[in-house]
Amino acid sequence: MSQIAQHLAQVADRIAKAETEAGRTTGSVALLAVSKTKPLEAIVAAYDCGQRRFGESYAQEAVDKIDRLRQDPAFDDLEWHFIGPLQSNKTRPVAERFQWVQSVDRAKLIERLQSQRPPHMPPLNICLQINISGELSKSGTTEEQIFSLAEQVSRSDRLVLRGLMAIPEHTDDAERLAGQMARMQQLFTRLQAKYPSVDTLSMGMTEDLEPAVHHGSTMVRIGTAIFGARDYS
Ligand SMILES: *Cc1c(COP(=O)(O)O)cnc(C)c1O
Repeated sequence: MSQIAQHLAQVADRIAKAETEAGRTTGSVALLAVSKTKPLEAIVAAYDCGQRRFGESYAQEAVDKIDRLRQDPAFDDLEWHFIGPLQSNKTRPVAERFQWVQSVDRAKLIERLQSQRPPHMPPLNICLQINISGELSKSGTTEEQIFSLAEQVSRSDRLVLRGLMAIPEHTDDAERLAGQMARMQQLFTRLQAKYPSVDTLSMGMTEDLEPAVHHGSTMVRIGTAIFGARDYS
């Protein structure tokens, strides 16, 4: 078994255990494999193990990978999620290639993705990113703004509002982390009550997968535990 196959099995196991411990249905948490900075071969290796959802953070790198894989129809069923900070002038290649953008945090991005999503493609799935820790270094909107952004997405016919994404603080303080995750869970529940298309709480990375599943995450975004450490970001 390849190392990536082994790692994927370990992550699947962690997710299943966390689901059980949280009293949740097995299979209720989806796995997004975060392949940023990793070569195409790593994506193909994960694909060969049955992984279909991949997350990328850098527009140009992602476009290069997607366009190379697109040349082989065998990879038609890959699902690409953009999860990095998105500059307004880089939205077009993202709107034209990805199935999801999880890092939407301002009105301008929503406008551009709506106007640039090609009409022949299915609507683009959108998660609003919230800066739940309030750290200055992090992207994401505030808790106050999500409902107006959600309304804007819901009025955009080329977009579908799917939910919320967050990167809680990287901290050893379990209570502090739990507090941030609990706030995400509450916001998610409120958003879901208002918009029936909302079904995704994207939360949990290699270091905080278990508490995220405990706090209602429906999609964990895992890089390091699958592909190994990254040289940068
Ligand atoms: C890099 C990244 C991840 C994956 O992080 P790991 O700690 O390697 O699992 C998840 N989400 C976002 C938004 C990222 O940028």
